[in-house]
Formats: sequence, C-alpha cells, structure tokens
Amino acid sequence: MTATGTRVLVLNSGSSSVKYQLLDMTDTQSAGGSAAGRLAVGLVERIGEENSRLVHTPLATGGDKRETEGPIADHEAALKAVAAELSADGLGLDSPQLAAIGHRVVHGGLKFTEPTVINDAVLQEIERLVPVAPLHNPANITGIRTALALRPDLPQVAVFDTAFHTTMPEYAARYAIDVETADAHRIRRYGFHGTSHAYVSRKTAALLGKDPSEVNVIVLHLGNGASASAVAGGRCVDTSMGLTPLEGLVMGTRSGDIDPAVTFHLGRVAGMSADEIDTLLNKKSGLIGLCGDNDMREIRRRIDEGDERAALAFDIYIHRLKKYIGAYSAVLGRVDAVAFTAGVGENAAPVREAAVAGLEEMGMAVDASLNAVRSDEPRLISPEYARVAVAVVPTDEELEIAQQAYALVSA
Ligand code: AMP
Repeated sequence: MTATGTRVLVLNSGSSSVKYQLLDMTDTQSAGGSAAGRLAVGLVERIGEENSRLVHTPLATGGDKRETEGPIADHEAALKAVAAELSADGLGLDSPQLAAIGHRVVHGGLKFTEPTVINDAVLQEIERLVPVAPLHNPANITGIRTALALRPDLPQVAVFDTAFHTTMPEYAARYAIDVETADAHRIRRYGFHGTSHAYVSRKTAALLGKDPSEVNVIVLHLGNGASASAVAGGRCVDTSMGLTPLEGLVMGTRSGDIDPAVTFHLGRVAGMSADEIDTLLNKKSGLIGLCGDNDMREIRRRIDEGDERAALAFDIYIHRLKKYIGAYSAVLGRVDAVAFTAGVGENAAPVREAAVAGLEEMGMAVDASLNAVRSDEPRLISPEYARVAVAVVPTDEELEIAQQAYALVSA
C-alpha cells in the first residue's frame, strides 16, 4: 500500500472523549520528530452529555484556540464536529494529502505485535479482546467504525498499547497460577502504555548518542496512569502493568500492586460486589484514595503546608517507584539509563529526586540544579560522575502513532 499524502490524523477515542492530532509527516521527520509537523490538535470531551466541549487549536494557521460547548450525542457526531473544525482550516478529512488515520487501540492481546492496517478481520479480533479490556477497547472500536464510515477509502491503522510488550519473555508475562485456567481465559501480563515506552526508550538511547540495541533503559511513565518498563537493547523484557492497567505502580486513582486476597476480603467481609471492588481499586485508590488528590501539583502544595496525609501518599508513591527501579535493575543486570516521562515524570522534580535518592550504590543520582530545569526537550539530570544516566524524556504518543501508521502505509 503506498500513500500519496503526507498527513496522518491520530485518534485516541475514550469512552466519553476523543483526542486528536493532525500531523504532517514530512515536517516531523525532517525536524527529527519535534512538534514542527503538528497541524492541528484538539479534544472532544463529555460526549453524550448536555455540556460536551470541543477544543480545537489550528497550529498550521497559527489561529487562536477555538472552544465550543453544547451537546455532542455520540462518537459519530464528535468526529463530524472535528472534521468540520479541520475543514474550516483547510485541513479537511477529504483532503488528498491525508495518508492515513492512526488509531490508538489499548488492547491488542498477543496477536497484534505490530501496527496493523484495519480490515474486518482485524476489527473482529479487537472485538474479541473486549473481555480483557472492557473499559477501553469498546471506545476504540467505536472510534474506528466512525472514522471508517467517514473515509472508507483511507487506510486506517491500529497502533496497540500492548504491542511493545509482546517481546516480554514467558517467565515475565505469565502469572504463577494454574496454566489451564490462565490460558482458557487469556489471563497473563500484557502491559500498557507501550507506545510511550517504545518512544521514550528510543529517545533515551538517542540522548546518550547510542543505538537502542546498545542500551538498557528503565522507563518510568508517570502520568495519571503510571507504569514502568525494563527495556533491554530496544526490546521490552518486563513491565509493571498486567492483564489490565491496574497492576504495578501507585497511580492517580489506581492502587497498583496489592495482595489479591484484599479483593476476597472486600467481597466476603465488606460485602462488596466485583464491580464495586473494581471501581474502588481503579477509581478511588492510588493517590486520590490515600489523600483525596490525584494531581501531584496539589499534593506537593499540601506537603509544603505540612499536610501529613499528602506526605504519606507521596511516600507510598515513591516507595513503590523505588521498588520497581530496584527490581528492573536486577532484571536488566546492567542499567544504562532511567528515563522519567509523562505528566508527573516530566514536571515533578521532587518525584524524580525522591525516587532516585539513596540509590548511589546502584550508580544512580540526580543533580539538583539540572533536575530543577524546566524544558520540553529530552535532557540528562544526573551528575557527570553517575554510572547510570538519569533523564527526563518527554513522551509523544501521538507522534509515535503517526510515525508507525505512516511507515506502514508508505512502505
Ligand atoms: P498525564 O496522564 O501524563 O497527562 O499526567 C497527568 C498528571 O501529571 C496530573 O494528574 C498531575 O499529577 C501531573 N502533572 C502535570 N503537570 C504537573 C506539574 N507541573 N507538576 C507536577 N505534576 C504535574
């Protein structure tokens, strides 16, 4: 399949939101993957409610951000509204310059190890994975179907959050439970945020002036959702999220690792249903459960005012992070770099400082003045003497999705 255009529309469809970016791949590639090729970015939120909101920024024309509020009934209406905004800037979906639409798809199971051009069989397979990703895949499927209806002639590419982790060895991916039961229900560790882990581990190698095959990197994707990965020579060998995004690090609203018996206890002793426990662990735990806030800025502000609950929440968050740095150092054997990324990782200097504090014996340290620098560029924050490079590497999942989709359709 050879594309004639050079633009890719990236769609990230959630249950009640659609995030989108239109990128020009000739620009992004010549600019080494910087933001130079971004033509428009935007977001539709609260789809299905009375007060839906569309925020559109036409970067290509340098125009002002446009915000519209009012009911947007469903994903089809949302995408049509996005298409109208793009058309108003001369960037409509009917443009021959559009080479592909790249869709973020959360769960690709074991089958999808690469970005994949979507056809009926691929859609069916993504649907077959709904039982293991009930919150995410249905929204992704709706986004794909809607985009296909608008541009049936255009290649649509699914880029899977799980794909980068499919290289995990069986001993890292398999839970130590009865094999027949696990296999019957496709229960294993899949991992998520793979697009980000792939992008950031590659960028970290570039920051060190090395090829990805030459370096071992621990990537800490710390956003509202958070995950760690161990990447050896460009391949993921372990990651902290599992069958679902619930496992691993303490997150904004998710508990991360807990004793699974907590769930039986909540069912038997507290009388909670499976759905109630699911909501507790996914939506009411983590930082918000511990201290009532899930925004690291607010938590830091409260700590500065002497708030003990916020301080304990921060310490629990850091303790878990440190345990994963230690675990993945052991898994990798040799660590060349630790890379912090996503909302917290890129912005919260105190988190980076605390996570690495005391790890000098492992060759890891943070330089206070480098750590305090604010920048959108990948940068080192470790002192020169440190054996392991500690870096801040801003993630760019949309660019990665666009590049993967474009590479596929222009091959
Ligand atoms: P993400 O999911 O990657 O968009 O990250 C969102 C999270 O990043 C927010 O919930 C905040 O906790 C955190 N965050 C964003 N900006 C800052 C900042 N300037 N300082 C500390 N934390 C931040």
